[in-house]
Amino acid sequence: MFSTMQDVPLTVARILEHGSTIHGGSTVTTWDGTGPVVRTYAEVGARAARLAWALRDELGVTADDRVATLMWNNAEHLEAYLAVPAMGAVLHTLNLRLPANQLSFIVNHAADRVVIVNGTVLPLLAAVLPELAPTLRHIVVSGPGDRSVLAGFAGGVHDYEELIADRPTAYPWRSDIDERQAAVLCYTSGTTGDPKGVLYSHRSVYLHCLQVNTGDNFGFTPRDTALPVVPMFHVNAWGIPHAAFMSGAGLLMPDRFLQPKPMAEMIAAVRPTVSAAVPTIWSGLLDELDAGDYDTSSLRMVVIGGSACPPSLMKGYEERHGIRVIHAWGMTETSPLGSFAQPPGGLTPEEEWPYRVTQGVFPASVEARLIGPGGERMPHDGVSAGELEVRGPWIAGAYYGGAGQDPQRPDDKFSEDGWLRTGDVGTITADGYLTLTDRAKDVIKSGGEWISSVDLENHLMAHPEVAEAAVVAVPDEKWGERPLATVVLRPGATAGLPELRAFLAGRIASWQLPERWAIVESVPKTSVGKFDKKVIRADYAARRLD
Ligand code: ADP
Repeated sequence: MFSTMQDVPLTVARILEHGSTIHGGSTVTTWDGTGPVVRTYAEVGARAARLAWALRDELGVTADDRVATLMWNNAEHLEAYLAVPAMGAVLHTLNLRLPANQLSFIVNHAADRVVIVNGTVLPLLAAVLPELAPTLRHIVVSGPGDRSVLAGFAGGVHDYEELIADRPTAYPWRSDIDERQAAVLCYTSGTTGDPKGVLYSHRSVYLHCLQVNTGDNFGFTPRDTALPVVPMFHVNAWGIPHAAFMSGAGLLMPDRFLQPKPMAEMIAAVRPTVSAAVPTIWSGLLDELDAGDYDTSSLRMVVIGGSACPPSLMKGYEERHGIRVIHAWGMTETSPLGSFAQPPGGLTPEEEWPYRVTQGVFPASVEARLIGPGGERMPHDGVSAGELEVRGPWIAGAYYGGAGQDPQRPDDKFSEDGWLRTGDVGTITADGYLTLTDRAKDVIKSGGEWISSVDLENHLMAHPEVAEAAVVAVPDEKWGERPLATVVLRPGATAGLPELRAFLAGRIASWQLPERWAIVESVPKTSVGKFDKKVIRADYAARRLD
């Protein structure tokens, strides 16, 4: 028997309408290098409407045309975030740190019709113009920047403010759309092979947004101000813009000022309550906070995810600055929030740590299982390791235009019964806490035993003179593979390799201890700020490391 309840679609339009009216007085603040530029959510709603009219009437955007953004985190990006899906088109966020060949691949693969670009990154777009297919018809430039670099573009070039000026401030948003329609397109950063597109639906964005707003997640309220340092092109800034707009939490947008000093200054000046980014960002900021005198007392929580967060980093924030750090796991294919490491109730702060350093627990909407090497289900006993597979309403079931969209051509990223194979390896405890030991491709297989690179890195980064440490597998004649430890020392450090070796030896089994070490100036990073182990392995193979 069917229920008697209304079948109302879950849409981005509803988030836009609700946020710009009920929370019309909440604000988005964009940091412009010297101070804040403030806009209310009512103004964002009105400007989103003007943008939608311009896209439709002037640039001919209809149905599910793709409108791309090549932008920093700022108020205009928020307007596009809301307007494009709410008018029924698909927002495609482009990663402005991608190499040129991947950027052009993605724009062409998505067949973007329009790109909205910040003037400050115009040269990136100009550099790939000759490679772009004629499907790209219009470029809309927001903010200052030399437009002459677009001279070779055959389509239309528009100024964002001029384009949206003098248009109506209300738009017939598509609240009636099928909630399974695509709202946002995001590509994985292509660490292996070509980037792959994940198409989020209105329903998945909406449900993920509700989850972000639950108490044991970001739990935004109108009394919060969120600082998404994680870029809006990195999996929807982990859902923060949508969730803040829905809940009425203010937003502090860092634009291009992502270096530790301006970040510390904007935190002291605008007083955000919650922030989120990958570990490398937080590690740079911690050094700045340790050295300077900044008021960070407004921050009630900082969420760290995207790669394993070293416990030493979490403790540094908590013990020296009184900032609570929460560890989270997710990926482009999971919208991205999967697990969130909030501890169970009734524990002392000391008892909470073993839970908080894990990747956390999954919400009801996300099911998780571990699959062993022979395809068997592994028990959730905190010891048995396997590849993590997940399923749920905001988990990808296929890639855009990829094999999995066609039932005749299955994609091996998905199990036969439709679960996402994450490529991450770890354990789950009986009470549901996930601990990742590695990405499957980063595990070090030494003489039939597995060594966790993350484990070695966490121990090394606990040494006070180590700023960063990345451990990768390198070929070894006797053992198959052995670990290579690359270490970045803090300025003025006196520790040498023998001391680091001895430090590590006291903490891990002796057979796991790396024989190969390299002190490096910096660990190479991916376009979203994670350790790029592919590059480290290639550097070793090319004998640039030893
Ligand atoms: P990319 O694969 O290009 O890095 P994603 O942002 O989608 O792009 O990365 C998802 C991956 O990041 C996960 O599969 C996992 O390997 C890693 N990851 C994310 N969060 C964590 C975490 N808290 N701990 C360890 N690894 C993480």
